[in-house]
Amino acid sequence: QLSQRLLAVADYVGPDEIVADIGSDHAYLPCYLVKKNKIKKAIAGEVVEGPYQSAINQVKQDQLGDYIDVRKGNGLTVIVPGEVTTVTIAGMGGPLISEILENGKDRLEGVKKLILQPNISAISIRSWLQENGWQISDERILEEDKKIYEVLLAERTKEQMDLSPSELLLGPVLIKNQSAIFKLKWEQELNQYKKILKQMQMAGQQGSLNQKKQDIEQKIKMIEEA
Ligand code: SAM
Repeated sequence: QLSQRLLAVADYVGPDEIVADIGSDHAYLPCYLVKKNKIKKAIAGEVVEGPYQSAINQVKQDQLGDYIDVRKGNGLTVIVPGEVTTVTIAGMGGPLISEILENGKDRLEGVKKLILQPNISAISIRSWLQENGWQISDERILEEDKKIYEVLLAERTKEQMDLSPSELLLGPVLIKNQSAIFKLKWEQELNQYKKILKQMQMAGQQGSLNQKKQDIEQKIKMIEEA
């Protein structure tokens, strides 16, 4: 059985989409999507040899070699423009996901949907999406094994999204829904930021800390307002 986290990613995949799962590790997500008959073709991309071998073995074990192509390479270099409709990137930090998207911009031609599941710092993904002609059409937040995960669905847009600083930090859809998990996540983050701020205050006024202090105060304000 797939994790709740990856199930939430899978849920956003529509019938007959062609999916590239980047950083696929065991290729659990593409294997699940094909086994459930949701899609007929997927690419599992991996840059590290160990996980790449795990993906190959899993696809072999599930006898899905005719449907899933396991490719070794960095980020989006494993696909050619126009090859897939959907890109999923899950289980990494937001900055790494944004870097993969930025470095592979030219490969995203023809891609209609991005399904992104950052473990931390979704803000960097939202900023990248906003600057690169994508709009966030849905977001989900869930808790599994005491960890909280966000899943973002983005589609191409003609008009640039115009997210406020708090929507960038907290998520335009999540902030509206105000689910219990969302509140729990931001209560935890708030406590964390307050702790850091206290430590900074104890460390005294140093030039380099000042900017960081202001950033954190700004975040605290946005979270409290939300
Ligand atoms: N996507 C799976 C999931 O959500 O369960 C696996 C997540 S695992 C924590 C992250 C995987 O991304 C690792 O297997 C790592 O090798 C791979 N990875 C990291 N950077 C990558 C990159 N630039 N291109 C392709 N794969 C990458």
